[in-house]
Amino acid sequence: MAEQLDQFEIAVEQIKKAAKILNLDRGMVEILTHPKRELTVNFPVRMDDDSVRVFTGYRVQYNYSRGPCKGGVRYHPNVTLNEVRALAAWMTWKTAVVNLPYGGAKGGVVVDPKKLSRNELERLTRRYTSEISIIIGPEKDIPAPDVYTDSQTMAWMMDTFSMIKGYSVPGVVTGKPLSVGGSEGRGEATARGAMYVARAAAETAGIDTRKATVAVQGFGNAGSIGARLFRSELGAKIVAISDSKGAIYNKDGIDIPKLEQYKARTGSVVNFPGTKNMSNEELLTLDVDILVPAALENQITEKNASKIKAKMIVEEANGPTTPKADEILFKNDVMLLPDVLANAGGVTVSYFEWVQDIQSFFWSLDEVNQKLERVMTSAYRDILPISQKENIDMRTAAYAYAVKKVVDAHTARGLWP
Ligand code: NAD
Repeated sequence: MAEQLDQFEIAVEQIKKAAKILNLDRGMVEILTHPKRELTVNFPVRMDDDSVRVFTGYRVQYNYSRGPCKGGVRYHPNVTLNEVRALAAWMTWKTAVVNLPYGGAKGGVVVDPKKLSRNELERLTRRYTSEISIIIGPEKDIPAPDVYTDSQTMAWMMDTFSMIKGYSVPGVVTGKPLSVGGSEGRGEATARGAMYVARAAAETAGIDTRKATVAVQGFGNAGSIGARLFRSELGAKIVAISDSKGAIYNKDGIDIPKLEQYKARTGSVVNFPGTKNMSNEELLTLDVDILVPAALENQITEKNASKIKAKMIVEEANGPTTPKADEILFKNDVMLLPDVLANAGGVTVSYFEWVQDIQSFFWSLDEVNQKLERVMTSAYRDILPISQKENIDMRTAAYAYAVKKVVDAHTARGLWP
């Protein structure tokens, strides 16, 4: 039977795997495999030509036993409730993995943002925010950017929520511009966090990062900054990079700042001078030390997992590896640093931003990066021994660690009534 790739079914499968290791009873598994609260909103937006279109949006609060919910908002034509559920579940484990006092949530709007004008996007964002304002807030649920949303989207969300309340509420969203309560270091936090985890794991695996070769799939926020930091902070050589239009390769290394300028000018990494073009599929199976998926879900599957030659995979993207591929990679001794750990730097600095907003007391970039480094490396050190002791892959170990934290919170709080 072909491997099923429904995101939420994958998420449930992963929870059940962790539940087995933890010996959880059926009732607890039922709680953990169900989203706590789901809101679907269908809302009208006036377009530039004065017509009205109705858009569908979601906000799923998966679990808030450990604190307010946290998770991004995604604008994409393929957004579905099931995908949002899965992403919300992953946020629950991710916040627990890095020991943040949060639950998990996610939001999405079914829209192709590239087809909307800036004014239309602003009206869509404001109306979506007002529709979900009944369940969000600094003590309840704090959205952030995700695919095709950014700091401007967050500024509009913050303003809309503040207008509804009648006073400024910077803590309602994170990933905001600095001018309205954003944090230093938020822009590169995901990639920086991944770099810290990769550095710690390279030490464990005996990989000298100054001699390591790296292939990066995706050249957006996470991928491009990841490539830059792996080069500048770890001394690694980035030999291959891709985006939605194709991949490029140079065995002697790619100049990342120049590539960033090239992509800004031409819209793609393809045909970058001094490199040869290849397909995304070829990039994934290159003979490199470190592979960094930083694009979309379901990229490493049972079809290509056995062909992967990288010694280490650092999941900057959410859900790039399917459960069957996980099994194959584990058998083949590939050290996989799972999304819930590797890309948790973004939500960690989001947490820092929320803390700074609530205290109205802001930190320097150095302070942010030092705190981030501590959070990321200690999460890695918490999870590694579980993987070694139980002889399980790092994803399952991270899930076991995270799920236990959520279970402990449920148990301590008890069942009401
Ligand atoms: P982005 O939109 O900035 O970049 C996505 C990149 O992937 C683009 O370069 C795009 O061209 C490329 N891409 C699309 N389809 C591709 C394909 N088939 N093959 C190769 N490349 C392809 O998004 P982002 O913010 O960088 O997010 C990327 C991933 O990282 C997502 O899974 C997201 O959930 C995850 N993530 C991002 C953050 C963050 O703070 N930005 C935090 C946590 C997780």
